[in-house]
Amino acid sequence: MSILVFLEHHGTELQKGSLGVLGKAVQLGAGDVSVAILGSGVEGLAAKAAEHGAATVYVADDPRLEAPLPQPRVDVLAQLVADKGVETMLFAQSILSADIAAALAARLDAGLNWQLVDLEARDGTIVGKQSALGDSVLVDVGWRSTPRLALFRAGAFDPAPSAAAGAVEQLEVKLEEHSLAAEMLEQAHEESSGPSIEDADIIVAGGRGLGAPEGFGLVEELAKALGGAVAATRAVVDAGWYPYSAQVGQTGKSVAPGLYVACGISGAIQHKVGMQSSKTIVAINKDPNAPIFEFADLGVVGDLHQIVPKLTELVRARKS
Ligand SMILES: Cc1cc2nc3c(=O)[nH]c(=O)nc-3n(C[C@H](O)[C@H](O)[C@H](O)COP(=O)(O)OP(=O)(O)OC[C@H]3O[C@@H](n4cnc5c(N)ncnc54)[C@H](O)[C@@H]3O)c2cc1C
Repeated sequence: MSILVFLEHHGTELQKGSLGVLGKAVQLGAGDVSVAILGSGVEGLAAKAAEHGAATVYVADDPRLEAPLPQPRVDVLAQLVADKGVETMLFAQSILSADIAAALAARLDAGLNWQLVDLEARDGTIVGKQSALGDSVLVDVGWRSTPRLALFRAGAFDPAPSAAAGAVEQLEVKLEEHSLAAEMLEQAHEESSGPSIEDADIIVAGGRGLGAPEGFGLVEELAKALGGAVAATRAVVDAGWYPYSAQVGQTGKSVAPGLYVACGISGAIQHKVGMQSSKTIVAINKDPNAPIFEFADLGVVGDLHQIVPKLTELVRARKS
C-alpha cells in the first residue's frame, strides 16, 4: 500500500500539521511511505522528513515553486502520482493544501475525502473517519478508485518522530503553461509575538461578549500569562474587532489545543466545529443557558470583565 504525504513548509519549517499526517501514515504500517516537498531552496528539509518516518523524500526544487501557489504544485504532484503509481495521497488542512487537493482530484479524476479526523487500514484497503451532523457522529468514508486523496482536519494528529531512510529523489519540474498564469504579487507576514493558533497548546478566545474591540486586551493579557495564542469568533472578526487569521470555526480555522478558554462566546455550532476537539474547554459566559456550557468541561457563569482580569492575576501569581 503506497502512501504519499504532501509536506507543506513555511520558510525553513515543515508544518506541524503535515508532520502529524506523516506520523499517521507511518503508524498505519504501510511500509512504503513517501513525502513530497515542493518549493525553492527546500532540499535541506528532506532530512527533517526522514526524522519523521519518510522512507522516500521526493523533492521538487525550482524557483517557479517559490510562491505558495497551487497550480504549479498540482502539475508536479499529478506527474509524481502517475509515475510512482501512488495509491493514497494525504494532505493536512491548510488553504494551500485544500486548493492543491481539490485541483488534483479534478486533474486525476480521483476521489477526495476531506475534513477527515482519522484513517485506518481495513481489509487491505483504507477507510477514513469523518465527523458529521455537527460533529455529533463519526462516519466511515471510502474511495471507489485509486488514487485516493484525503485532507485531514487541522490538529488531527501530533507529529511523532520516527527515523527512516529518507532517500532523496529529485523530481524534474515540468509545468503547464496555464499553471504559470497566476502570479504572487505580494506576500505579507503577520507579526506575532506568541504562538500561532494552529500550533498553540493553549488558546484564549474572545467573542461578542467582550463588548468592544478593546475587550480583546483582557483576552490578550490572559493568553500572555498562560503562554497561549488568541482566537476569535466570526461575529467579532466580521465586526472588525480582530483579524480573520484568528477566526476559529466552520469558515475559519480548526484547532485542537490542550486548553481552550472561551470568553463571551455563545458556542454556536459554526464555532463549535472548529474547537470542539480541544482537550479541555473552559467557558466564561454571563448567560447560564449559553449553548457553550453544553460542551464545556468547566463553566464559569459571570461577567468576563471581572473574571478574566482576576484569572490573569492568579495565573501570574502562580507562575511567579
Ligand atoms: C455559514 C456560516 C458560517 C459561520 N462560520 C463561523 C465560524 O467560522 N466561526 C464562528 O465563530 N462563527 C461562525 N458563524 C457565526 C456563528 O453562527 C455565530 O454567530 C458566532 O459564532 C457568534 O459569535 P459570538 O459567540 O462571539 O457572539 P454571540 O453569539 O453574540 O455570543 C456572545 C456571548 O457572550 C455572552 N456575553 C455577553 N456579555 C458578556 C459578559 N460581559 N461576560 C460574559 N459573557 C458575556 C453572551 O451571553 C453570549 O452568549 C458562521 C455562521 C454561518 C451562518
